[in-house]
Amino acid sequence: MKKYSSILETNLKKVLNLQKLEIIVPILLVLFFSAYSIPSKKKTFKNTAFTVVIDAGHGGHDPGCMHDGVKEKEVTLAIALAIGAKLKEQSPEIKIIYTRAGDHFISLWERAAIANKNNADLFISIHCNSTKNVSVSGTETFAMGLNQSAGNLDVAKRENQVVLLEDDYLTRYEGFDPNSPESHIYFSLSQNAHMEQSISLAAKVENQISEKMKRPSRGVKQAGFVVLWKTKMPSILIETGFLSNTQDRLFLKSKVGVSKMAEGIVNAILEYKKTYQTSPSK
Ligand SMILES: [Zn+2]
Repeated sequence: MKKYSSILETNLKKVLNLQKLEIIVPILLVLFFSAYSIPSKKKTFKNTAFTVVIDAGHGGHDPGCMHDGVKEKEVTLAIALAIGAKLKEQSPEIKIIYTRAGDHFISLWERAAIANKNNADLFISIHCNSTKNVSVSGTETFAMGLNQSAGNLDVAKRENQVVLLEDDYLTRYEGFDPNSPESHIYFSLSQNAHMEQSISLAAKVENQISEKMKRPSRGVKQAGFVVLWKTKMPSILIETGFLSNTQDRLFLKSKVGVSKMAEGIVNAILEYKKTYQTSPSK
Protein backbone atom coordinates (compact mmCIF):
# COMPACT_ATOMS: atom_id res chain seq x y z
CA MET A 1 0.00 0.00 0.00
CA LYS A 2 2.84 2.37 0.87
CA LYS A 3 4.43 1.69 -2.50
CA TYR A 4 1.20 2.46 -4.31
CA SER A 5 0.56 5.67 -2.43
CA SER A 6 4.05 6.96 -3.14
CA ILE A 7 3.66 6.11 -6.84
CA LEU A 8 0.35 7.98 -6.84
CA GLU A 9 1.90 10.96 -5.08
CA THR A 10 4.83 11.19 -7.49
CA ASN A 11 2.60 10.85 -10.50
CA LEU A 12 0.07 13.36 -9.25
CA LYS A 13 2.89 15.88 -8.91
CA LYS A 14 3.84 15.22 -12.51
CA VAL A 15 0.22 15.75 -13.59
CA LEU A 16 0.18 19.15 -11.95
CA ASN A 17 3.31 20.12 -13.89
CA LEU A 18 1.66 19.07 -17.14
CA GLN A 19 -1.46 21.21 -16.71
CA LYS A 20 -0.39 23.80 -19.30
CA LEU A 21 0.51 21.18 -21.87
CA GLU A 22 -2.85 19.55 -21.34
CA ILE A 23 -4.65 22.64 -22.53
CA ILE A 24 -2.58 22.98 -25.72
CA VAL A 25 -2.31 19.34 -26.80
CA PRO A 26 -6.09 18.61 -26.92
CA ILE A 27 -6.70 21.73 -29.02
CA LEU A 28 -4.03 20.69 -31.55
CA LEU A 29 -5.36 17.15 -31.71
CA VAL A 30 -8.96 18.31 -32.15
CA LEU A 31 -7.84 20.39 -35.12
CA PHE A 32 -5.87 17.49 -36.57
CA PHE A 33 -8.55 14.82 -36.18
CA SER A 34 -11.56 16.98 -37.05
CA ALA A 35 -10.89 16.21 -40.72
CA TYR A 36 -11.86 12.58 -40.14
CA SER A 37 -15.34 11.27 -39.66
CA ILE A 38 -15.83 7.79 -38.29
CA PRO A 39 -18.78 5.76 -39.59
CA SER A 40 -21.21 4.37 -37.02
CA LYS A 41 -22.62 0.84 -37.15
CA LYS A 42 -26.26 -0.05 -36.76
CA LYS A 43 -26.54 -2.63 -34.03
CA THR A 44 -28.32 -5.86 -34.73
CA PHE A 45 -28.80 -7.84 -31.57
CA LYS A 46 -27.70 -11.44 -31.39
CA ASN A 47 -30.30 -14.12 -31.01
CA THR A 48 -29.62 -14.69 -27.33
CA ALA A 49 -30.73 -12.96 -24.15
CA PHE A 50 -30.15 -9.23 -24.01
CA THR A 51 -27.16 -8.98 -21.69
CA VAL A 52 -26.28 -6.01 -19.51
CA VAL A 53 -22.99 -5.79 -17.66
CA ILE A 54 -23.24 -3.53 -14.62
CA ASP A 55 -19.89 -2.28 -13.40
CA ALA A 56 -19.68 -0.86 -9.88
CA GLY A 57 -16.65 1.45 -10.01
CA HIS A 58 -13.64 0.91 -7.71
CA GLY A 59 -13.70 -1.61 -4.82
CA GLY A 60 -11.37 -3.33 -2.37
CA HIS A 61 -8.24 -1.27 -1.69
CA ASP A 62 -9.43 1.33 -4.21
CA PRO A 63 -12.16 3.34 -2.44
CA GLY A 64 -12.58 5.90 -5.24
CA CYS A 65 -13.38 9.40 -4.03
CA MET A 66 -14.36 9.93 -0.39
CA HIS A 67 -16.11 12.76 1.39
CA ASP A 68 -17.40 12.97 4.93
CA GLY A 69 -17.14 9.22 5.44
CA VAL A 70 -18.99 8.36 2.22
CA LYS A 71 -16.91 6.15 -0.10
CA GLU A 72 -17.46 6.04 -3.85
CA LYS A 73 -16.90 2.25 -3.93
CA GLU A 74 -19.84 1.71 -1.53
CA VAL A 75 -22.24 4.03 -3.36
CA THR A 76 -21.39 2.51 -6.76
CA LEU A 77 -21.93 -1.02 -5.48
CA ALA A 78 -25.29 -0.12 -3.88
CA ILE A 79 -26.49 1.50 -7.12
CA ALA A 80 -25.18 -1.35 -9.31
CA LEU A 81 -26.94 -4.00 -7.24
CA ALA A 82 -30.16 -1.95 -7.18
CA ILE A 83 -30.03 -1.61 -10.98
CA GLY A 84 -29.65 -5.38 -11.33
CA ALA A 85 -32.52 -6.12 -8.94
CA LYS A 86 -34.88 -3.67 -10.62
CA LEU A 87 -33.96 -4.86 -14.12
CA LYS A 88 -34.56 -8.46 -13.13
CA GLU A 89 -37.93 -7.52 -11.66
CA GLN A 90 -39.11 -5.53 -14.66
CA SER A 91 -37.57 -7.57 -17.45
CA PRO A 92 -36.73 -11.09 -16.24
CA GLU A 93 -35.55 -12.11 -19.71
CA ILE A 94 -32.59 -9.75 -19.50
CA LYS A 95 -29.31 -11.36 -18.46
CA ILE A 96 -27.50 -9.36 -15.81
CA ILE A 97 -23.82 -9.66 -15.05
CA TYR A 98 -21.99 -7.71 -12.35
CA THR A 99 -18.27 -7.06 -12.64
CA ARG A 100 -18.29 -7.15 -8.85
CA ALA A 101 -21.05 -7.92 -6.37
CA GLY A 102 -18.90 -7.39 -3.28
CA ASP A 103 -16.08 -5.20 -2.03
CA HIS A 104 -13.31 -6.45 -4.35
CA PHE A 105 -10.61 -4.76 -6.36
CA ILE A 106 -10.96 -5.44 -10.07
CA SER A 107 -8.60 -3.97 -12.65
CA LEU A 108 -10.05 -1.86 -15.43
CA TRP A 109 -9.06 -4.37 -18.14
CA GLU A 110 -10.86 -7.20 -16.29
CA ARG A 111 -14.08 -5.19 -16.19
CA ALA A 112 -14.07 -4.79 -19.97
CA ALA A 113 -12.99 -8.42 -20.42
CA ILE A 114 -16.03 -9.63 -18.43
CA ALA A 115 -18.33 -7.71 -20.79
CA ASN A 116 -16.58 -8.98 -23.93
CA LYS A 117 -16.41 -12.59 -22.74
CA ASN A 118 -20.15 -12.58 -22.13
CA ASN A 119 -20.89 -10.93 -25.47
CA ALA A 120 -22.85 -8.23 -23.63
CA ASP A 121 -25.21 -5.82 -25.33
CA LEU A 122 -24.49 -2.99 -22.92
CA PHE A 123 -21.73 -2.06 -20.49
CA ILE A 124 -22.67 0.40 -17.77
CA SER A 125 -20.03 1.70 -15.39
CA ILE A 126 -21.24 3.45 -12.24
CA HIS A 127 -19.15 6.14 -10.53
CA CYS A 128 -19.35 9.20 -8.28
CA ASN A 129 -17.80 12.54 -9.01
CA SER A 130 -15.66 14.83 -6.90
CA THR A 131 -14.33 18.34 -7.29
CA LYS A 132 -12.79 21.09 -5.16
CA ASN A 133 -15.77 23.41 -5.71
CA VAL A 134 -18.30 21.96 -3.29
CA SER A 135 -21.21 23.86 -4.85
CA VAL A 136 -20.93 21.82 -8.08
CA SER A 137 -23.59 19.11 -8.22
CA GLY A 138 -25.44 16.85 -10.65
CA THR A 139 -24.96 13.80 -12.80
CA GLU A 140 -23.05 13.47 -16.05
CA THR A 141 -22.97 10.48 -18.35
CA PHE A 142 -19.97 9.80 -20.54
CA ALA A 143 -19.43 7.94 -23.76
CA MET A 144 -15.97 7.26 -25.14
CA GLY A 145 -14.90 10.09 -27.38
CA LEU A 146 -12.75 13.13 -27.78
CA ASN A 147 -12.57 15.36 -24.71
CA GLN A 148 -14.56 18.46 -25.45
CA SER A 149 -13.54 20.45 -22.40
CA ALA A 150 -10.88 20.58 -19.73
CA GLY A 151 -13.56 19.51 -17.23
CA ASN A 152 -14.23 16.27 -19.12
CA LEU A 153 -10.50 15.57 -19.24
CA ASP A 154 -10.29 16.10 -15.47
CA VAL A 155 -12.99 13.47 -14.82
CA ALA A 156 -11.29 10.95 -17.14
CA LYS A 157 -7.91 11.65 -15.55
CA ARG A 158 -9.29 11.05 -12.07
CA GLU A 159 -11.00 7.80 -13.03
CA ASN A 160 -8.03 6.60 -15.11
CA GLN A 161 -5.58 7.14 -12.22
CA VAL A 162 -6.83 3.79 -10.88
CA VAL A 163 -4.48 1.97 -13.29
CA LEU A 164 -1.58 3.12 -11.11
CA LEU A 165 -2.77 0.55 -8.57
CA GLU A 166 -1.94 -2.18 -11.09
CA ASP A 167 1.71 -3.26 -11.30
CA ASP A 168 1.82 -3.92 -15.02
CA TYR A 169 -0.33 -1.06 -16.27
CA LEU A 170 2.12 0.14 -18.94
CA THR A 171 2.13 -3.31 -20.57
CA ARG A 172 -1.52 -4.08 -19.97
CA TYR A 173 -2.79 -0.81 -21.38
CA GLU A 174 -0.39 -0.66 -24.31
CA GLY A 175 1.81 2.08 -22.90
CA PHE A 176 -1.01 4.14 -21.41
CA ASP A 177 0.39 6.56 -18.89
CA PRO A 178 -2.26 8.38 -16.85
CA ASN A 179 0.18 11.24 -16.42
CA SER A 180 0.53 11.88 -20.12
CA PRO A 181 -2.07 14.14 -21.80
CA GLU A 182 -1.39 12.38 -25.11
CA SER A 183 -2.42 9.05 -23.56
CA HIS A 184 -5.82 10.44 -22.60
CA ILE A 185 -6.32 11.81 -26.09
CA TYR A 186 -5.29 8.48 -27.61
CA PHE A 187 -7.89 6.70 -25.50
CA SER A 188 -10.61 9.16 -26.37
CA LEU A 189 -10.07 8.42 -30.06
CA SER A 190 -9.79 4.67 -29.84
CA GLN A 191 -13.40 3.47 -29.71
CA ASN A 192 -16.02 4.77 -32.05
CA ALA A 193 -17.80 1.73 -33.48
CA HIS A 194 -20.66 2.04 -30.99
CA MET A 195 -20.46 5.73 -30.30
CA GLU A 196 -23.91 6.53 -31.67
CA GLN A 197 -25.64 3.94 -29.46
CA SER A 198 -23.52 4.87 -26.45
CA ILE A 199 -24.47 8.53 -26.78
CA SER A 200 -28.12 7.60 -27.30
CA LEU A 201 -28.13 5.56 -24.07
CA ALA A 202 -26.25 8.32 -22.22
CA ALA A 203 -28.90 10.82 -23.36
CA LYS A 204 -31.69 8.56 -22.12
CA VAL A 205 -29.99 8.29 -18.70
CA GLU A 206 -29.55 12.05 -18.35
CA ASN A 207 -33.10 12.62 -19.60
CA GLN A 208 -34.46 10.31 -16.91
CA ILE A 209 -32.48 12.16 -14.27
CA SER A 210 -33.47 15.67 -15.33
CA GLU A 211 -37.04 15.11 -16.62
CA LYS A 212 -38.35 12.24 -14.51
CA MET A 213 -36.31 12.56 -11.33
CA LYS A 214 -36.05 16.37 -11.48
CA ARG A 215 -32.45 16.19 -10.36
CA PRO A 216 -29.59 18.36 -11.64
CA SER A 217 -28.09 16.97 -14.85
CA ARG A 218 -24.81 18.15 -16.33
CA GLY A 219 -25.61 16.33 -19.54
CA VAL A 220 -23.98 13.87 -21.92
CA LYS A 221 -20.24 14.19 -22.32
CA GLN A 222 -17.33 12.45 -24.00
CA ALA A 223 -13.84 11.65 -22.78
CA GLY A 224 -11.25 8.86 -22.91
CA PHE A 225 -11.93 6.36 -20.14
CA VAL A 226 -9.66 3.34 -19.84
CA VAL A 227 -12.54 1.18 -18.56
CA LEU A 228 -14.52 1.85 -21.78
CA TRP A 229 -11.52 1.44 -24.08
CA LYS A 230 -11.71 -2.26 -24.94
CA THR A 231 -15.42 -2.95 -24.59
CA LYS A 232 -16.96 -4.25 -27.81
CA MET A 233 -20.49 -2.99 -27.21
CA PRO A 234 -22.23 0.32 -26.48
CA SER A 235 -20.71 1.47 -23.21
CA ILE A 236 -21.27 4.38 -20.88
CA LEU A 237 -19.86 5.67 -17.62
CA ILE A 238 -22.33 7.40 -15.31
CA GLU A 239 -21.08 9.88 -12.74
CA THR A 240 -24.12 9.66 -10.47
CA GLY A 241 -23.38 12.84 -8.51
CA PHE A 242 -20.69 14.69 -6.58
CA LEU A 243 -19.71 13.25 -3.22
CA SER A 244 -18.01 16.62 -2.66
CA ASN A 245 -21.45 18.31 -2.72
CA THR A 246 -23.57 17.95 0.43
CA GLN A 247 -26.95 17.56 -1.31
CA ASP A 248 -25.64 15.00 -3.82
CA ARG A 249 -23.78 13.11 -1.10
CA LEU A 250 -26.81 12.88 1.19
CA PHE A 251 -28.94 11.74 -1.75
CA LEU A 252 -26.47 9.07 -2.88
CA LYS A 253 -25.86 7.65 0.57
CA SER A 254 -29.60 7.31 1.26
CA LYS A 255 -31.61 4.21 0.37
CA VAL A 256 -34.18 6.38 -1.40
CA GLY A 257 -31.46 8.09 -3.43
CA VAL A 258 -29.85 4.80 -4.47
CA SER A 259 -33.24 3.40 -5.43
CA LYS A 260 -34.26 6.47 -7.45
CA MET A 261 -30.94 6.63 -9.27
CA ALA A 262 -31.16 2.92 -10.12
CA GLU A 263 -34.74 3.33 -11.30
CA GLY A 264 -33.78 6.16 -13.67
CA ILE A 265 -30.92 4.11 -15.13
CA VAL A 266 -33.15 1.04 -15.52
CA ASN A 267 -35.81 3.08 -17.34
CA ALA A 268 -33.12 4.36 -19.70
CA ILE A 269 -31.84 0.83 -20.36
CA LEU A 270 -35.35 -0.46 -21.14
CA GLU A 271 -36.06 2.53 -23.38
CA TYR A 272 -32.77 1.92 -25.19
CA LYS A 273 -33.56 -1.79 -25.60
CA LYS A 274 -36.90 -0.94 -27.16
CA THR A 275 -35.32 1.56 -29.57
CA TYR A 276 -32.36 -0.49 -30.73
CA GLN A 277 -33.53 -4.07 -30.57
CA THR A 278 -34.20 -4.72 -34.24
CA SER A 279 -34.86 -8.42 -33.87
CA PRO A 280 -36.52 -9.69 -30.71
CA SER A 281 -34.22 -11.85 -28.65
CA LYS A 282 -36.52 -14.28 -26.92
ZN1 LIG B 1 -14.90 6.53 -10.01
